[in-house]
Amino acid sequence: MQPGMVRGTVGGVINYCNRVVPISCCAAKAIMSRRLHARRLDGIDKNIWVEFTQLAADYKPVNLGQGFPDFSPPAFIQEAFCKAVSGDCSMHQYTRAFGHPHLVKNLAKFFGRVMDRDVDPFEDILVTVGAYQALFCTFQALIDEGDEVIVIEPFFDCYQPMVKMAGGTTVYVPLRPKTNDGKALSSADWVLNAEELESKFTPRTKALVFNTPNNPLGKVFQREELKVIADLCVKHDVICISDEVYEWLTYDGNKHVKIASLPGMWERTVTIGSAGKTFSATGWKVGWAMGSGHILKHLKTVHQNSVYHCATAAQEAVAAGFQREYECFGKEDSYFLQLPATLHHKRLRLAKCLQSVGLQPILPQGGYFMIADVSSLKVDLTDPTTAGEPYDYRIVKWLIKEKGLATIPVSAFFSPEHQKDFQNYIRFCFVKEDSTLKAAEDIIQQWSEKK
Ligand code: PMP
Ligand code: GLN
Repeated sequence: MQPGMVRGTVGGVINYCNRVVPISCCAAKAIMSRRLHARRLDGIDKNIWVEFTQLAADYKPVNLGQGFPDFSPPAFIQEAFCKAVSGDCSMHQYTRAFGHPHLVKNLAKFFGRVMDRDVDPFEDILVTVGAYQALFCTFQALIDEGDEVIVIEPFFDCYQPMVKMAGGTTVYVPLRPKTNDGKALSSADWVLNAEELESKFTPRTKALVFNTPNNPLGKVFQREELKVIADLCVKHDVICISDEVYEWLTYDGNKHVKIASLPGMWERTVTIGSAGKTFSATGWKVGWAMGSGHILKHLKTVHQNSVYHCATAAQEAVAAGFQREYECFGKEDSYFLQLPATLHHKRLRLAKCLQSVGLQPILPQGGYFMIADVSSLKVDLTDPTTAGEPYDYRIVKWLIKEKGLATIPVSAFFSPEHQKDFQNYIRFCFVKEDSTLKAAEDIIQQWSEKK
């Protein structure tokens, strides 16, 4: 594929080598006179990660785009994986459908301690192919035709198509930057209006979904903010879906609080987690959903009739990881303390670099992304291939193609109705080697000198 061509926008399909071939070369050319694809796919064929990952592959920029570490997972978990694949032959075969017993026992023990409650390994946990599949099972299991799901924005983009595929409708409520002399400086300055949130509940509301620490903003919802959400879920008898994949990544004394631990919430919350984020191994695709067995049993029905179970060896390695973290919980050796300590410095370094060229970053309280207002940039956005796209999409594509730096447009994390209000921001990922951050800094500095 030629640089500048984006997969799916040029009449091509993806072949087994992961390249685009023209539809005319393809045996799947319109053989049916009837409509081919299911209606539930209407309008959800574009995907930000597919599009921008392909651009990054084509132009090979310094990559602060897609959220993955460019360094290895900790040695202890790599060793656990090697041990799993080279040991007992059972590691190469099917395991229990809803989670490898060694893993669910360790997750239950670990999160039981975190939440100070009994978590039943076999009732209250479902192990999935990454957090993505945990979210998919949740929406498929709980959302019916006509149901509404309240989504707090900015939101991880897959919530919308997943709700749609389940037959539901998304209803949005944005976090808005409150002004500090006209400037929001930290993700803590982005707040939810409780009245606006309450106004979104209707008799059709079945669930509310949100993400803390938030991708892309980095907001860590504080206990009082969670209480507002929890009280409304209880009052309106609604399920809460809490995506907590960045739960260990918090800074400046911010504490991640599980909404499931608030009074009355365990019974109505599905908490989503990811070993990919937890152990810096996004390619392993081990995730989980956790919650009361009376909810989880329905997620299991979806899982047993779709994926059935996830890779045994990867689950075994993650089990060993959680066992280790249980043993060194709260101690210096804990990876769940070491990773945020390392990222804290990278975060400040990136913020400083952006500020030095007059950009205004929003300092994240958690996660591994930072957004910055780029409306002050004076760049030549005359590329006809991006005409009509939101400002942030055009800036990001220009940055990749002309400056060799990949980031992600933030309006992708907003609904169509709010996108135009949030298209001045782009997202930088800082879970990267210092050498990668240095290369990005050089690009940003050089470019600002030439402005
Ligand atoms: N939720 C959020 C907020 C994410 O950023 C991601 C991306 N990792 C996911 C879910 C999916 O996680 P996984 O890679 O474990 O499927
Ligand atoms: N969660 C990752 C991010 O926000 C990417 C997920 C994906 O590539 N599908 O960057």
